[in-house]
Amino acid sequence: MEEETRVICITCPKGCALDVTREGATVLEIRGGGCKRGQEYVKAELADPRRMVATTVRIRGGLHPLLPVYTAAPFPKGRIADLLAELRTLELRVPVKMGEVVLKNALGTGIDILASRTMTRLKEKNGEM
Ligand code: SF4
Repeated sequence: MEEETRVICITCPKGCALDVTREGATVLEIRGGGCKRGQEYVKAELADPRRMVATTVRIRGGLHPLLPVYTAAPFPKGRIADLLAELRTLELRVPVKMGEVVLKNALGTGIDILASRTMTRLKEKNGEM
């Protein structure tokens, strides 16, 4: 039985609405969208929805108690809650460099979690070593 779905493309700020006709998991037709990327987004969103994730993890001895981190690639949407729970258990230690892997192969997905910034010791920053 055919089913109609509307998907909002989030690839760019325009946020086009695309109408999709599908039968079970098979996409029959995609209408609308301002460019070809919308079609690709809809196919990926229906087959394997993913999102970039940016959050923070605890870090000891640094300028701040939390280090901003992000996924190296879009993460499976259905596993984001588990990823955040895993990251809440982490406690890093300084120093950490921007782009450094702070968690490899998160949840066995093959996707690493990277530091968004460098975090030095408080003393190093103030030149008090
Ligand atoms: S379909 Fe194209 S123009 Fe529309 S939101 Fe997606 S990327 Fe942007």
